[in-house]
Amino acid sequence: MLLNKPKRKIKLMEICGTHTMSIAQNGIRSLLEENIELVSGPGCPVCVTPSNIIDICLELLKEPNIVIFSYGDMLRVPGSKGKRLFQHKQVKMCLSPLEALDYAKENPNKQIIFLGVGFETTTPGSAICILEAYKQNIKNFFFYSLLKRTEPALRTLLKDDPDIDGFICPGHVACILGEQGFQFLSKEYHKPGVISGFEAEDILCSINLLIDMINQDTPAIKNTYQRAVRYNGNQKALSLIHDVFEPETSLWKGLGNIEKSGLKLKDTYSQFDAKIYFQLPLPENKEPKGCQCANILTGKKKPIECPLFQKICTPQNPIGPCMVSSEGACAASFMYEERL
Ligand code: SF4
Repeated sequence: MLLNKPKRKIKLMEICGTHTMSIAQNGIRSLLEENIELVSGPGCPVCVTPSNIIDICLELLKEPNIVIFSYGDMLRVPGSKGKRLFQHKQVKMCLSPLEALDYAKENPNKQIIFLGVGFETTTPGSAICILEAYKQNIKNFFFYSLLKRTEPALRTLLKDDPDIDGFICPGHVACILGEQGFQFLSKEYHKPGVISGFEAEDILCSINLLIDMINQDTPAIKNTYQRAVRYNGNQKALSLIHDVFEPETSLWKGLGNIEKSGLKLKDTYSQFDAKIYFQLPLPENKEPKGCQCANILTGKKKPIECPLFQKICTPQNPIGPCMVSSEGACAASFMYEERL
């Protein structure tokens, strides 16, 4: 495949952890012209979650009746003292919040907390779980919402770094939001975006379209993932999100507090809100010394520019979440790209 040549130096950003991994795995950077910079953005949900959440959870686990469930990557992130949740016997890994709900029903004497991390892709599943808990009147199930919304983060990113020339838009999130969910990029910011699938061919085709739109100065939102993404997205999933959650200010690693960028449970379901029930403190961004995850998540630095990369921080001994997560830029770079 012959890529279009940009007329000037351009900076493109992928904003999905699965794209980050696929780009590294398929050696896509090595196929690009020198004047195309391809950087990773805040697309890995575990990476953008403030790391003191782990400390908050470890504090909760001092109560022997509490059991915490979450997805695997989140359980491997080190807390401020290096301890990780998966090392704790009151912590369980799951693939769906419904597993945590089932456990709550089977263990009425325990308090079960599900750590809800993710973007619009996982939110409908969480909404279904909350509706089930409500319908079945489950009293010992709690949802700790760390859910994030894509649009406010992209707006903040563009305010901080208006030099990003175009976006490879996240295919999974777009399955829910649809093409319409990204129109603001071209209409309000004059930036092109291409919704992309995850094969090397999908990504190369998307980059080609981005270069073309930048060369012609005709920004628009295009969709090379039409086999999964419709213009209006998944209306059923969107209405589930709307029924159960409402936007709230949320703290992102690398981007700070962003208005309406998180989701909290609506009042009807507040009995399941772990933040309210356990009176949890607000999250804070406390980076491990030397860790550059915040700069990496905003495309300001590459993993190899972190002084800890590969010397101290490795997938076996991760210091920051970008090296932990199977969608993290540092893990992708370590496994498939740059070596010191
Ligand atoms: Fe953080 Fe490790 Fe990545 Fe450095 S290499 S930015 S310490 S995760």
